[in-house]
Amino acid sequence: MKKYILTLDEGTTSARAILFDKNCRAVSVAQHEFTQIYPNPSFVEHNPIEIFTAQYSSIIEAIAAAHTTAEEIAAIGITNQRETTVVWDKMTGEPVYNAIVWQCRRTADMCEKLKAQGVEEYIKDTTGLKIDAYFSATKIKWILDNVDGAREKAERGELLFGTIDTYLLYKLSGGKIFATDTTNASRTLLFNINTLSWDDKLLKIFDIPRSMLPEVSPSGSNFGEVDIMGVKVPVYGIAGDQQAALFGQHCFNKGDIKNTYGTGCFLLMNTGDTAVKSRHGLVTTVAATLENENPQYALEGSVFIGGAVIQWIRDELRLITKASDSERMAKRVSDSGGVYIVPAFSGLGTPYWDMYARGTICGITRGTNRNHIVRACLESIAYQTNDLLTAMAEDSGNTVKKLKVDGGASRNNFLMQFQSDVSDITVSRPQNAEATALGAALLAGLTCGFYESREALINLDGETKDFKPQISAKERETLTHGWKQAIKSTIAFHEE
Ligand code: ADP
Repeated sequence: MKKYILTLDEGTTSARAILFDKNCRAVSVAQHEFTQIYPNPSFVEHNPIEIFTAQYSSIIEAIAAAHTTAEEIAAIGITNQRETTVVWDKMTGEPVYNAIVWQCRRTADMCEKLKAQGVEEYIKDTTGLKIDAYFSATKIKWILDNVDGAREKAERGELLFGTIDTYLLYKLSGGKIFATDTTNASRTLLFNINTLSWDDKLLKIFDIPRSMLPEVSPSGSNFGEVDIMGVKVPVYGIAGDQQAALFGQHCFNKGDIKNTYGTGCFLLMNTGDTAVKSRHGLVTTVAATLENENPQYALEGSVFIGGAVIQWIRDELRLITKASDSERMAKRVSDSGGVYIVPAFSGLGTPYWDMYARGTICGITRGTNRNHIVRACLESIAYQTNDLLTAMAEDSGNTVKKLKVDGGASRNNFLMQFQSDVSDITVSRPQNAEATALGAALLAGLTCGFYESREALINLDGETKDFKPQISAKERETLTHGWKQAIKSTIAFHEE
Protein backbone atom coordinates (compact mmCIF):
# COMPACT_ATOMS: atom_id res chain seq x y z
CA MET A 1 0.00 0.00 0.00
CA LYS A 2 1.38 3.36 -1.01
CA LYS A 3 1.38 6.00 1.67
CA TYR A 4 1.17 9.44 0.09
CA ILE A 5 -0.28 11.80 -2.46
CA LEU A 6 2.21 14.38 -3.70
CA THR A 7 0.85 17.84 -4.48
CA LEU A 8 2.79 20.19 -6.71
CA ASP A 9 1.54 23.65 -5.73
CA GLU A 10 2.96 26.01 -8.31
CA GLY A 11 2.07 29.54 -7.15
CA THR A 12 2.88 33.01 -8.42
CA THR A 13 5.95 33.50 -6.27
CA SER A 14 7.02 29.99 -5.31
CA ALA A 15 6.75 26.31 -6.16
CA ARG A 16 5.92 23.98 -3.30
CA ALA A 17 5.73 20.24 -2.93
CA ILE A 18 3.58 18.71 -0.19
CA LEU A 19 3.07 15.09 0.80
CA PHE A 20 -0.39 14.26 2.14
CA ASP A 21 -1.11 11.04 4.02
CA LYS A 22 -4.28 8.91 4.19
CA ASN A 23 -5.74 11.28 6.79
CA CYS A 24 -5.23 14.29 4.50
CA ARG A 25 -2.50 15.57 6.79
CA ALA A 26 0.44 17.40 5.22
CA VAL A 27 3.41 15.35 6.46
CA SER A 28 6.09 17.37 4.70
CA VAL A 29 6.37 20.59 2.74
CA ALA A 30 9.22 22.08 0.75
CA GLN A 31 9.19 25.37 -1.07
CA HIS A 32 11.39 27.34 -3.47
CA GLU A 33 10.79 30.89 -4.57
CA PHE A 34 11.55 32.01 -8.10
CA THR A 35 12.35 35.35 -9.69
CA GLN A 36 9.68 37.89 -10.57
CA ILE A 37 10.84 39.53 -13.79
CA TYR A 38 9.62 43.06 -14.57
CA PRO A 39 11.07 44.12 -17.96
CA ASN A 40 8.99 47.32 -17.66
CA PRO A 41 6.33 48.56 -15.21
CA SER A 42 3.38 46.78 -16.81
CA PHE A 43 5.20 43.56 -17.84
CA VAL A 44 5.42 40.58 -15.48
CA GLU A 45 7.31 37.43 -16.46
CA HIS A 46 8.68 34.21 -14.99
CA ASN A 47 11.41 31.97 -16.33
CA PRO A 48 9.64 28.60 -16.96
CA ILE A 49 12.88 26.66 -16.54
CA GLU A 50 13.46 28.29 -13.16
CA ILE A 51 9.91 27.32 -12.17
CA PHE A 52 10.56 23.73 -13.21
CA THR A 53 13.84 23.63 -11.27
CA ALA A 54 12.19 25.20 -8.19
CA GLN A 55 9.39 22.64 -8.43
CA TYR A 56 11.71 19.68 -8.85
CA SER A 57 13.95 20.76 -5.96
CA SER A 58 10.87 21.06 -3.76
CA ILE A 59 9.77 17.56 -4.72
CA ILE A 60 13.14 16.06 -3.77
CA GLU A 61 13.22 17.95 -0.46
CA ALA A 62 9.63 17.11 0.49
CA ILE A 63 10.29 13.40 -0.13
CA ALA A 64 13.52 13.55 1.89
CA ALA A 65 11.87 15.45 4.74
CA ALA A 66 9.24 12.70 5.06
CA HIS A 67 12.04 10.05 5.14
CA THR A 68 10.37 8.28 2.27
CA THR A 69 10.92 7.50 -1.42
CA ALA A 70 9.04 8.18 -4.64
CA GLU A 71 7.87 4.52 -4.60
CA GLU A 72 5.59 5.40 -1.67
CA ILE A 73 3.69 7.99 -3.71
CA ALA A 74 0.36 6.73 -5.01
CA ALA A 75 -0.31 9.70 -7.27
CA ILE A 76 0.44 13.34 -7.99
CA GLY A 77 -1.98 16.28 -7.97
CA ILE A 78 -0.97 19.56 -9.59
CA THR A 79 -2.36 22.99 -8.80
CA ASN A 80 -1.03 26.14 -10.34
CA GLN A 81 -1.24 29.87 -10.89
CA ARG A 82 -3.84 30.21 -13.60
CA GLU A 83 -3.68 31.97 -16.99
CA THR A 84 0.13 32.33 -16.96
CA THR A 85 1.27 31.44 -20.45
CA VAL A 86 4.23 29.40 -21.70
CA VAL A 87 5.01 28.77 -25.37
CA TRP A 88 7.75 26.26 -26.13
CA ASP A 89 9.40 24.37 -28.96
CA LYS A 90 7.89 20.94 -29.48
CA MET A 91 11.23 19.38 -30.45
CA THR A 92 13.54 20.83 -27.81
CA GLY A 93 11.10 21.67 -25.00
CA GLU A 94 12.78 25.11 -24.83
CA PRO A 95 10.45 28.04 -24.10
CA VAL A 96 10.58 30.58 -26.93
CA TYR A 97 9.91 33.40 -24.45
CA ASN A 98 9.53 33.83 -20.69
CA ALA A 99 6.17 32.86 -19.17
CA ILE A 100 3.81 35.84 -19.36
CA VAL A 101 2.23 36.05 -15.92
CA TRP A 102 -1.50 36.54 -15.26
CA GLN A 103 -0.77 39.96 -13.72
CA CYS A 104 0.92 41.22 -16.89
CA ARG A 105 -0.98 44.06 -18.62
CA ARG A 106 1.02 44.18 -21.88
CA THR A 107 -1.96 43.13 -23.98
CA ALA A 108 -4.46 45.66 -22.57
CA ASP A 109 -4.49 47.61 -25.87
CA MET A 110 -4.96 44.42 -27.86
CA CYS A 111 -8.02 43.70 -25.69
CA GLU A 112 -9.46 47.16 -26.37
CA LYS A 113 -9.13 46.55 -30.12
CA LEU A 114 -10.88 43.18 -29.83
CA LYS A 115 -13.72 44.77 -27.89
CA ALA A 116 -14.11 47.29 -30.70
CA GLN A 117 -14.63 44.37 -33.12
CA GLY A 118 -17.82 43.48 -31.26
CA VAL A 119 -16.80 39.94 -30.23
CA GLU A 120 -17.41 40.47 -26.52
CA GLU A 121 -20.84 38.87 -26.36
CA TYR A 122 -19.69 35.73 -28.19
CA ILE A 123 -16.69 35.46 -25.90
CA LYS A 124 -18.81 35.87 -22.78
CA ASP A 125 -21.31 33.25 -23.96
CA THR A 126 -18.72 30.65 -24.89
CA THR A 127 -15.97 31.19 -22.30
CA GLY A 128 -17.86 32.79 -19.38
CA LEU A 129 -15.08 35.41 -19.29
CA LYS A 130 -14.60 38.98 -20.42
CA ILE A 131 -11.93 40.15 -22.83
CA ASP A 132 -9.06 41.03 -20.52
CA ALA A 133 -5.26 40.94 -20.59
CA TYR A 134 -5.48 38.71 -17.48
CA PHE A 135 -6.47 35.59 -19.48
CA SER A 136 -4.08 33.57 -21.69
CA ALA A 137 -5.27 34.12 -25.29
CA THR A 138 -3.85 37.59 -25.88
CA LYS A 139 -0.61 36.58 -24.13
CA ILE A 140 -0.16 33.70 -26.63
CA LYS A 141 -0.90 36.04 -29.51
CA TRP A 142 1.62 38.55 -28.18
CA ILE A 143 4.35 35.90 -28.17
CA LEU A 144 3.47 34.77 -31.71
CA ASP A 145 3.46 38.37 -32.94
CA ASN A 146 6.58 39.55 -31.12
CA VAL A 147 9.06 36.69 -30.95
CA ASP A 148 11.14 36.33 -34.11
CA GLY A 149 9.94 33.45 -36.26
CA ALA A 150 7.40 32.27 -33.67
CA ARG A 151 4.30 32.64 -35.80
CA GLU A 152 5.80 30.73 -38.73
CA LYS A 153 6.92 27.94 -36.42
CA ALA A 154 3.50 27.82 -34.75
CA GLU A 155 1.79 27.62 -38.16
CA ARG A 156 4.06 24.66 -38.99
CA GLY A 157 2.93 22.93 -35.78
CA GLU A 158 6.32 23.28 -34.09
CA LEU A 159 5.26 25.30 -31.02
CA LEU A 160 3.14 24.30 -28.05
CA PHE A 161 1.20 26.41 -25.57
CA GLY A 162 0.46 25.53 -22.00
CA THR A 163 -0.44 26.99 -18.65
CA ILE A 164 2.10 26.02 -15.99
CA ASP A 165 0.43 22.67 -15.20
CA THR A 166 0.87 21.65 -18.84
CA TYR A 167 4.46 22.81 -18.98
CA LEU A 168 5.36 20.94 -15.77
CA LEU A 169 3.64 17.80 -17.01
CA TYR A 170 5.49 18.04 -20.32
CA LYS A 171 8.85 18.48 -18.59
CA LEU A 172 8.26 15.81 -15.94
CA SER A 173 7.19 13.27 -18.58
CA GLY A 174 10.15 13.99 -20.84
CA GLY A 175 7.83 15.51 -23.48
CA LYS A 176 5.45 12.53 -23.55
CA ILE A 177 2.38 14.20 -21.99
CA PHE A 178 0.82 17.33 -23.46
CA ALA A 179 -2.36 17.85 -21.46
CA THR A 180 -4.31 20.13 -19.18
CA ASP A 181 -7.58 20.02 -17.23
CA THR A 182 -10.87 21.79 -17.81
CA THR A 183 -10.35 24.38 -15.04
CA ASN A 184 -7.07 25.62 -16.49
CA ALA A 185 -8.44 25.49 -20.03
CA SER A 186 -11.42 27.56 -18.91
CA ARG A 187 -9.10 30.51 -18.13
CA THR A 188 -7.52 30.80 -21.57
CA LEU A 189 -10.38 32.57 -23.45
CA LEU A 190 -10.09 29.78 -26.06
CA PHE A 191 -12.20 27.12 -24.37
CA ASN A 192 -15.93 26.67 -24.79
CA ILE A 193 -17.17 25.96 -21.26
CA ASN A 194 -20.50 24.62 -22.53
CA THR A 195 -19.07 21.96 -24.84
CA LEU A 196 -15.80 21.62 -22.84
CA SER A 197 -13.67 21.83 -25.95
CA TRP A 198 -11.37 24.30 -27.71
CA ASP A 199 -13.44 26.64 -29.86
CA ASP A 200 -12.46 27.19 -33.51
CA LYS A 201 -14.12 30.59 -33.75
CA LEU A 202 -12.18 31.81 -30.70
CA LEU A 203 -8.95 30.45 -32.16
CA LYS A 204 -9.68 32.48 -35.28
CA ILE A 205 -10.48 35.63 -33.30
CA PHE A 206 -7.18 35.39 -31.42
CA ASP A 207 -5.28 34.03 -34.46
CA ILE A 208 -3.88 30.99 -32.68
CA PRO A 209 -3.21 27.65 -34.46
CA ARG A 210 -5.11 24.76 -32.95
CA SER A 211 -2.03 22.50 -33.08
CA MET A 212 -0.54 24.51 -30.19
CA LEU A 213 -3.22 23.45 -27.71
CA PRO A 214 -3.02 20.56 -25.23
CA GLU A 215 -5.54 17.78 -24.77
CA VAL A 216 -8.14 18.62 -22.12
CA SER A 217 -9.47 16.19 -19.48
CA PRO A 218 -11.56 16.52 -16.31
CA SER A 219 -9.54 17.67 -13.26
CA GLY A 220 -9.64 14.20 -11.72
CA SER A 221 -8.35 11.98 -14.56
CA ASN A 222 -5.44 9.71 -15.40
CA PHE A 223 -3.06 12.19 -17.04
CA GLY A 224 -0.25 9.60 -17.43
CA GLU A 225 3.01 8.87 -15.67
CA VAL A 226 5.87 11.23 -14.89
CA ASP A 227 9.37 10.56 -13.73
CA ILE A 228 10.17 11.38 -10.11
CA MET A 229 13.77 10.51 -9.23
CA GLY A 230 13.73 7.57 -11.63
CA VAL A 231 10.34 6.26 -10.45
CA LYS A 232 7.20 6.38 -12.61
CA VAL A 233 4.39 8.09 -10.70
CA PRO A 234 0.92 8.71 -12.17
CA VAL A 235 -0.68 12.16 -12.22
CA TYR A 236 -4.36 11.85 -11.32
CA GLY A 237 -5.35 15.44 -10.57
CA ILE A 238 -4.90 18.91 -12.03
CA ALA A 239 -6.74 22.12 -11.19
CA GLY A 240 -6.10 25.85 -11.29
CA ASP A 241 -5.40 27.26 -7.83
CA GLN A 242 -8.83 28.77 -7.09
CA GLN A 243 -10.77 25.76 -8.32
CA ALA A 244 -8.43 23.52 -6.31
CA ALA A 245 -9.17 25.61 -3.22
CA LEU A 246 -12.92 25.28 -3.86
CA PHE A 247 -12.47 21.50 -3.98
CA GLY A 248 -10.09 21.47 -1.00
CA GLN A 249 -12.73 23.35 1.01
CA HIS A 250 -15.19 20.55 0.18
CA CYS A 251 -17.43 22.91 -1.77
CA PHE A 252 -18.78 19.92 -3.71
CA ASN A 253 -22.41 21.02 -3.86
CA LYS A 254 -24.41 23.74 -5.53
CA GLY A 255 -24.40 26.90 -3.40
CA ASP A 256 -21.19 26.03 -1.52
CA ILE A 257 -18.89 29.02 -1.42
CA LYS A 258 -15.32 29.84 -0.39
CA ASN A 259 -13.18 32.94 -0.18
CA THR A 260 -9.39 32.91 -0.25
CA TYR A 261 -7.94 35.95 1.53
CA GLY A 262 -4.49 36.41 0.00
CA THR A 263 -2.87 39.41 -1.68
CA GLY A 264 -6.17 39.65 -3.53
CA CYS A 265 -9.32 37.75 -2.59
CA PHE A 266 -10.96 35.08 -4.73
CA LEU A 267 -14.56 34.17 -4.06
CA LEU A 268 -15.97 31.11 -5.83
CA MET A 269 -19.42 29.61 -5.62
CA ASN A 270 -20.23 26.14 -6.89
CA THR A 271 -23.29 26.52 -9.16
CA GLY A 272 -23.73 22.79 -9.83
CA ASP A 273 -24.16 21.68 -13.43
CA THR A 274 -25.37 25.11 -14.59
CA ALA A 275 -22.97 27.66 -16.07
CA VAL A 276 -24.66 30.73 -14.58
CA LYS A 277 -24.20 33.87 -16.65
CA SER A 278 -23.48 36.83 -14.39
CA ARG A 279 -25.37 40.10 -14.59
CA HIS A 280 -23.04 41.74 -12.07
CA GLY A 281 -19.59 41.47 -13.61
CA LEU A 282 -18.62 38.07 -12.15
CA VAL A 283 -17.05 35.47 -14.42
CA THR A 284 -18.33 31.96 -15.06
CA THR A 285 -15.78 29.21 -14.85
CA VAL A 286 -15.43 25.43 -14.75
CA ALA A 287 -15.17 23.87 -11.27
CA ALA A 288 -12.95 20.84 -10.64
CA THR A 289 -14.77 17.56 -11.29
CA LEU A 290 -13.78 13.92 -11.43
CA GLU A 291 -13.95 11.85 -14.62
CA ASN A 292 -17.31 10.14 -15.11
CA GLU A 293 -19.09 12.89 -13.18
CA ASN A 294 -21.19 15.68 -14.64
CA PRO A 295 -19.16 18.83 -15.17
CA GLN A 296 -19.67 21.45 -12.52
CA TYR A 297 -19.40 25.20 -12.79
CA ALA A 298 -18.61 28.11 -10.52
CA LEU A 299 -19.17 31.84 -10.37
CA GLU A 300 -16.03 33.74 -9.52
CA GLY A 301 -15.35 37.24 -8.30
CA SER A 302 -12.11 38.80 -7.22
CA VAL A 303 -10.98 41.63 -4.99
CA PHE A 304 -7.80 43.16 -6.44
CA ILE A 305 -6.52 44.62 -3.19
CA GLY A 306 -7.22 42.27 -0.27
CA GLY A 307 -4.29 41.44 2.03
CA ALA A 308 -2.31 43.86 -0.15
CA VAL A 309 -3.88 46.77 1.76
CA ILE A 310 -2.23 45.37 4.89
CA GLN A 311 1.11 45.19 3.06
CA TRP A 312 0.56 48.84 2.09
CA ILE A 313 0.08 50.04 5.67
CA ARG A 314 3.11 47.98 6.67
CA ASP A 315 5.51 48.97 3.88
CA GLU A 316 4.38 52.45 2.83
CA LEU A 317 2.54 54.01 5.77
CA ARG A 318 4.52 51.96 8.32
CA LEU A 319 1.59 51.80 10.74
CA ILE A 320 2.39 48.16 11.53
CA THR A 321 5.56 46.07 11.43
CA LYS A 322 3.95 42.77 10.55
CA ALA A 323 0.58 41.83 9.06
CA SER A 324 -0.66 40.15 12.24
CA ASP A 325 -0.24 43.44 14.24
CA SER A 326 -3.31 44.68 12.40
CA GLU A 327 -5.62 42.46 14.45
CA ARG A 328 -4.43 43.78 17.80
CA MET A 329 -4.62 47.41 16.65
CA ALA A 330 -8.09 47.04 15.11
CA LYS A 331 -9.38 45.62 18.39
CA ARG A 332 -8.03 48.61 20.37
CA VAL A 333 -10.92 50.73 19.06
CA SER A 334 -14.60 49.85 19.20
CA ASP A 335 -15.20 50.92 15.61
CA SER A 336 -13.43 52.70 12.76
CA GLY A 337 -14.67 56.07 14.05
CA GLY A 338 -16.57 56.64 10.81
CA VAL A 339 -13.45 56.15 8.68
CA TYR A 340 -13.76 54.19 5.42
CA ILE A 341 -10.84 53.25 3.20
CA VAL A 342 -11.54 52.23 -0.37
CA PRO A 343 -8.29 50.64 -1.60
CA ALA A 344 -9.01 51.17 -5.30
CA PHE A 345 -5.26 51.42 -5.97
CA SER A 346 -5.69 50.19 -9.51
CA GLY A 347 -9.41 50.71 -10.05
CA LEU A 348 -12.61 49.19 -8.71
CA GLY A 349 -13.58 45.63 -9.69
CA THR A 350 -16.87 43.74 -9.35
CA PRO A 351 -19.58 45.06 -9.29
CA TYR A 352 -18.41 48.63 -10.03
CA TRP A 353 -15.86 48.08 -12.83
CA ASP A 354 -14.31 51.50 -12.78
CA MET A 355 -10.70 51.21 -13.90
CA TYR A 356 -10.05 54.94 -13.44
CA ALA A 357 -10.99 55.04 -9.76
CA ARG A 358 -8.18 55.49 -7.25
CA GLY A 359 -8.09 54.88 -3.50
CA THR A 360 -9.74 57.16 -0.95
CA ILE A 361 -9.90 57.60 2.80
CA CYS A 362 -13.22 59.13 3.91
CA GLY A 363 -14.60 60.37 7.22
CA ILE A 364 -11.39 61.46 8.99
CA THR A 365 -11.82 63.67 12.08
CA ARG A 366 -9.35 65.26 14.49
CA GLY A 367 -9.86 62.21 16.69
CA THR A 368 -8.89 59.65 14.02
CA ASN A 369 -5.83 57.67 15.05
CA ARG A 370 -3.72 54.93 13.53
CA ASN A 371 -5.89 52.19 15.04
CA HIS A 372 -8.92 53.55 13.19
CA ILE A 373 -6.99 53.57 9.92
CA VAL A 374 -5.72 50.02 10.42
CA ARG A 375 -9.21 48.87 11.33
CA ALA A 376 -10.72 50.59 8.29
CA CYS A 377 -8.18 48.79 6.09
CA LEU A 378 -9.20 45.38 7.45
CA GLU A 379 -12.85 46.34 7.17
CA SER A 380 -12.32 47.28 3.50
CA ILE A 381 -11.36 43.66 2.76
CA ALA A 382 -14.64 42.49 4.28
CA TYR A 383 -16.76 45.14 2.52
CA GLN A 384 -15.27 44.27 -0.86
CA THR A 385 -15.91 40.57 -0.23
CA ASN A 386 -19.44 41.46 0.84
CA ASP A 387 -20.04 43.24 -2.48
CA LEU A 388 -19.04 40.03 -4.27
CA LEU A 389 -21.25 37.90 -2.02
CA THR A 390 -24.20 40.14 -2.80
CA ALA A 391 -23.53 39.93 -6.55
CA MET A 392 -23.26 36.14 -6.33
CA ALA A 393 -26.47 35.74 -4.36
CA GLU A 394 -28.30 37.84 -6.97
CA ASP A 395 -26.79 36.02 -9.96
CA SER A 396 -27.29 32.53 -8.63
CA GLY A 397 -30.53 33.00 -6.73
CA ASN A 398 -28.94 31.20 -3.75
CA THR A 399 -28.83 32.82 -0.34
CA VAL A 400 -25.48 32.19 1.12
CA LYS A 401 -25.48 30.92 4.71
CA LYS A 402 -21.91 29.83 5.20
CA LEU A 403 -18.64 31.09 3.83
CA LYS A 404 -15.60 28.82 3.97
CA VAL A 405 -12.35 30.75 4.19
CA ASP A 406 -8.64 30.21 3.67
CA GLY A 407 -5.50 32.19 2.72
CA GLY A 408 -3.00 34.22 4.77
CA ALA A 409 -5.34 36.99 5.93
CA SER A 410 -8.04 34.49 7.03
CA ARG A 411 -5.89 34.00 10.14
CA ASN A 412 -7.03 37.45 11.27
CA ASN A 413 -9.85 36.83 13.77
CA PHE A 414 -11.00 40.43 13.74
CA LEU A 415 -11.39 40.33 9.96
CA MET A 416 -13.29 37.03 10.05
CA GLN A 417 -15.70 38.31 12.73
CA PHE A 418 -16.24 41.55 10.85
CA GLN A 419 -16.93 39.58 7.65
CA SER A 420 -19.52 37.54 9.48
CA ASP A 421 -21.09 40.71 10.90
CA VAL A 422 -21.36 42.73 7.68
CA SER A 423 -22.39 39.80 5.51
CA ASP A 424 -24.74 38.22 8.08
CA ILE A 425 -23.17 34.87 7.40
CA THR A 426 -21.31 32.12 9.28
CA VAL A 427 -17.62 32.29 8.42
CA SER A 428 -15.98 28.90 8.75
CA ARG A 429 -12.20 28.55 8.91
CA PRO A 430 -10.70 25.05 8.71
CA GLN A 431 -7.67 24.11 10.81
CA ASN A 432 -5.83 23.28 7.63
CA ALA A 433 -5.63 26.61 5.77
CA GLU A 434 -3.85 24.84 2.85
CA ALA A 435 -7.06 24.45 0.87
CA THR A 436 -5.39 24.83 -2.53
CA ALA A 437 -2.75 22.13 -2.07
CA LEU A 438 -5.23 19.88 -0.31
CA GLY A 439 -7.70 20.31 -3.18
CA ALA A 440 -5.17 18.99 -5.70
CA ALA A 441 -4.36 16.06 -3.38
CA LEU A 442 -8.06 15.23 -2.98
CA LEU A 443 -8.62 15.31 -6.73
CA ALA A 444 -5.72 12.94 -7.35
CA GLY A 445 -6.49 10.78 -4.30
CA LEU A 446 -10.21 10.35 -5.04
CA THR A 447 -9.56 9.56 -8.70
CA CYS A 448 -7.00 6.83 -8.06
CA GLY A 449 -8.84 5.38 -5.06
CA PHE A 450 -6.30 6.48 -2.43
CA TYR A 451 -9.14 8.34 -0.72
CA GLU A 452 -12.33 6.33 -0.59
CA SER A 453 -15.09 8.89 -1.15
CA ARG A 454 -16.03 12.50 -0.61
CA GLU A 455 -18.17 11.45 2.35
CA ALA A 456 -15.22 9.72 4.00
CA LEU A 457 -13.17 12.89 3.58
CA ILE A 458 -15.65 14.94 5.55
CA ASN A 459 -15.02 12.72 8.57
CA LEU A 460 -11.32 13.54 8.33
CA ASP A 461 -12.02 17.24 8.67
CA GLY A 462 -10.56 18.69 11.82
CA GLU A 463 -12.47 21.22 13.91
CA THR A 464 -13.36 24.40 12.06
CA LYS A 465 -13.47 27.77 13.78
CA ASP A 466 -16.83 29.37 13.11
CA PHE A 467 -17.57 33.09 13.35
CA LYS A 468 -21.26 33.99 13.73
CA PRO A 469 -22.88 37.40 13.20
CA GLN A 470 -22.95 39.47 16.40
CA ILE A 471 -24.50 42.74 15.28
CA SER A 472 -28.07 43.84 14.65
CA ALA A 473 -29.60 44.31 11.20
CA LYS A 474 -29.69 48.06 11.90
CA GLU A 475 -25.99 48.23 12.72
CA ARG A 476 -25.24 46.23 9.57
CA GLU A 477 -27.32 48.61 7.50
CA THR A 478 -25.46 51.63 8.94
CA LEU A 479 -22.05 50.10 8.26
CA THR A 480 -22.79 49.04 4.68
CA HIS A 481 -24.51 52.35 3.93
CA GLY A 482 -21.27 54.12 4.92
CA TRP A 483 -19.29 51.84 2.59
CA LYS A 484 -21.63 52.62 -0.31
CA GLN A 485 -21.18 56.34 0.37
CA ALA A 486 -17.40 55.89 0.37
CA ILE A 487 -17.60 54.07 -2.97
CA LYS A 488 -19.71 56.91 -4.37
CA SER A 489 -17.11 59.45 -3.22
CA THR A 490 -14.34 57.36 -4.76
CA ILE A 491 -16.08 57.32 -8.13
CA ALA A 492 -17.08 61.00 -7.88
CA PHE A 493 -13.48 62.01 -7.16
CA HIS A 494 -12.28 61.30 -10.70
CA GLU A 495 -15.48 62.16 -12.56
CA GLU A 496 -15.82 65.59 -14.13
P1 ADP B 1 -0.70 35.01 -1.58
O1 ADP B 1 -0.96 33.55 -1.79
O2 ADP B 1 -1.55 35.93 -2.39
O3 ADP B 1 0.76 35.39 -1.61
P2 ADP B 1 -1.19 34.53 1.26
O4 ADP B 1 -2.35 33.60 1.33
O5 ADP B 1 0.16 34.02 1.61
O6 ADP B 1 -1.20 35.34 -0.10
O7 ADP B 1 -1.53 35.75 2.24
C1 ADP B 1 -0.68 36.86 2.31
C2 ADP B 1 -1.49 38.14 2.40
O8 ADP B 1 -2.28 38.11 3.58
C3 ADP B 1 -0.60 39.36 2.47
O9 ADP B 1 -1.17 40.36 1.64
C4 ADP B 1 -0.68 39.80 3.93
O10 ADP B 1 -0.66 41.21 4.04
C5 ADP B 1 -1.99 39.25 4.40
N1 ADP B 1 -1.96 38.76 5.78
C6 ADP B 1 -1.22 37.75 6.28
N2 ADP B 1 -1.46 37.59 7.60
C7 ADP B 1 -2.38 38.51 7.94
C8 ADP B 1 -3.05 38.86 9.15
N3 ADP B 1 -2.82 38.20 10.29
N4 ADP B 1 -3.94 39.87 9.10
C9 ADP B 1 -4.20 40.53 7.95
N5 ADP B 1 -3.60 40.26 6.79
C10 ADP B 1 -2.70 39.27 6.77
